[in-house]
Amino acid sequence: MPPSNAPLLAAGPEVVAIPGPSVMPARVLNAMHRSMPDIYAGDLTDVIDEVFDALPAIAGTTSRAFVPIGNGHAGWEMALSNTLSRGQLVLVLDCGRFAAIWGEMAEFNGLRVETITAPFGRAIDPAVVEERLAADTGHEIAAVLTVHVDTASSVRNDIPAIRSAIDAAGHPAMFMVDCIASMGCERFEMDAWRVDVTISASQKGLMTPPGLAMVWAGPKALAAHESADLRTRYWDWTYRTEDGPYYLRFCGTPPVSHLFGLREALRMIDEEGLEERYARHVRLADAVRAAVRAWSTEGGLGFTAAVAEQRSHAVTSIRTGSIDADALAHRCRDQFGVTLGVGIGGEPGTSFRIGHMGHVNAPMVLGVLGAIESALADLGAPTAGSGVAAASAAIAAAGHDG
Ligand SMILES: *Cc1c(COP(=O)(O)O)cnc(C)c1O
Repeated sequence: MPPSNAPLLAAGPEVVAIPGPSVMPARVLNAMHRSMPDIYAGDLTDVIDEVFDALPAIAGTTSRAFVPIGNGHAGWEMALSNTLSRGQLVLVLDCGRFAAIWGEMAEFNGLRVETITAPFGRAIDPAVVEERLAADTGHEIAAVLTVHVDTASSVRNDIPAIRSAIDAAGHPAMFMVDCIASMGCERFEMDAWRVDVTISASQKGLMTPPGLAMVWAGPKALAAHESADLRTRYWDWTYRTEDGPYYLRFCGTPPVSHLFGLREALRMIDEEGLEERYARHVRLADAVRAAVRAWSTEGGLGFTAAVAEQRSHAVTSIRTGSIDADALAHRCRDQFGVTLGVGIGGEPGTSFRIGHMGHVNAPMVLGVLGAIESALADLGAPTAGSGVAAASAAIAAAGHDG
């Protein structure tokens, strides 16, 4: 039961610390708040051009992006339907939950699916991928599907290492990577890492309300598109051409408000600089990780992601051991007005997640950690030390380094 002073401390701005939809900047929301423009000329066409011009850089590519109206799942479906044919085999590399769900979609849509699953809390082992692909001497596997960051386990895969594994096996499969949780937060180099299809969505690191997906298609994917038979008219890349009237790119009416919002978000990313953004995410994630380490006890709190180098800089999943994670989350919400992400992938009530992606800074992260630490104290949870003190020290140290 929340204590009687709950409303006093929870009043004020609602704080969401879930891994998407994440905190939306006022600049983005204000840019969206406008009446519908002339859709034939002027503002809207400028916005569309600016958005499409800016999207390749954030994915580290020169390839164009397609922008379907939809969430991340829409991006998944666009990627599959444009490049593959009924009955083809895809290899799904799952290290949490999200690649497996993408695989379920692939199966539903008529593909054959084989899944390699990493132990929960660990990244995909590239050696396992190389071994499987090397055994596929007939090159039956048409595509390898994985995630950059799995938002359930908060594990980051080593995408260049998986690319090297595909190359070492001499395998021609397309390589498709879901960057829905990581885009704009964690370094990603589509061209340098030779990824064929990259997928993201607006509502996580890209700081724009849910409703837009992005699919970057490299030359190999565009070549596969020519003969893909899963193509359907709505998702089809050929019809979503840049030549011709604006509505072709969206297969109909453009998502006007979202485009104004996304343009503003992309401008903010450009103003901050990608390298600075990546560095900020590392520092804030380091603060969160310092807190988790300070809280950790045998049988109590700890990291879901077992290996330090595999921990995402955009989201952290924390297992709670003997502490009821749902009670902790409720306490944080009711008493302090902070919403934490529910755990995904483990036993119910045994983990929670903190999103630290996109529009976040040190006081926001420290405030969330402080609320968690207070709630842990209220619940009588055993902790080894103060997470807030450790996080503050980590941020101070980062300041000195920088
Ligand atoms: C959030 C997320 C998804 C799903 O995105 P939706 O917008 O909910 O469809 C897929 N993959 C990853 C890695 C995610 O973080």
